[in-house]
Amino acid sequence: MTDDPARPDGEPWQWEEPVWRRIVGRARAGRSLRPDAWPEGARCAVALSFDADHETIPLRDNDPSPMRISQGQYGSRAAMPRIRRLLARHAVPASFFYPAVSALLHPDEVRELADEGHEIGIHSWIHELNTTLPREAERDLTLRARDVLARVSGQEPVGIRTASWDFSPHTLGIIREMGLLYDSSLMADDEPYELDDAGEPTGIIELPPEWIRDDFVYFNMLRHAPLRPYTPPSAVEEIFFAEFDGAHDEGGLFLLTMHPHVIGHRSRLGLLDRLVGHAKAKDAWFGTHAEVARWCRKELTGSG
Ligand SMILES: [Zn+2]
Repeated sequence: MTDDPARPDGEPWQWEEPVWRRIVGRARAGRSLRPDAWPEGARCAVALSFDADHETIPLRDNDPSPMRISQGQYGSRAAMPRIRRLLARHAVPASFFYPAVSALLHPDEVRELADEGHEIGIHSWIHELNTTLPREAERDLTLRARDVLARVSGQEPVGIRTASWDFSPHTLGIIREMGLLYDSSLMADDEPYELDDAGEPTGIIELPPEWIRDDFVYFNMLRHAPLRPYTPPSAVEEIFFAEFDGAHDEGGLFLLTMHPHVIGHRSRLGLLDRLVGHAKAKDAWFGTHAEVARWCRKELTGSG
């Protein structure tokens, strides 16, 4: 970022054309990096990710309630062992995105996941929302989070998923400064693409998530809200299967975001078990986000 203000002056209906063009030009989808073929001659690719927020959501909200903290602890205590058993049984890798505070609270979990061949990715310091921060604070927290994860996991993180996909106007500049391989927060496509910044290709790969392929939106509820929008696991299974089958038909990428404290319940994890089995039976290749990004990087460079 140069001297580009995050928020321009005036009301949107007053903006001159260069203003709204500059806004849409930030972290813009550039070249498609959808490959012609996937590893091992597979029909399509599956990238499973778990955002291991654990206790950091109530901490971020400055809510010291032991009740909400305990709901986060469930993610590590009850859900993670189930998830790791499932992945081991199917012999598929996954990417785990950790807020630094979550990794510091659960260092053994992080190290064991890395030792099991899974990827550890950056997911903020304490699940803070980047768009609420000054640039220097966002930069400092992101760099410190990277250092904590490297130290705890023994693995240098190469990718980031901003907490709550809250990608600020400054985030891409910070990612470029850090020399990361990829981001997984933006949603301009189903397939991987290169991020452009103000019309300039950056070489940063975007692996797009979507709320549709996220467990949280279907299963979460607000305690004091009048609605309790629980979706039955069978309905979520139907949506995830349809998203995978679409990726399979198009020979593309199926990227799924989950949260241990959400998907890891007894009534829900079975849908992931069946989904992984379905994808394996249909000749999908499973890679971590970093492996998918490295494979798609060949589209940028024309080589490995
Ligand atoms: Zn998160």
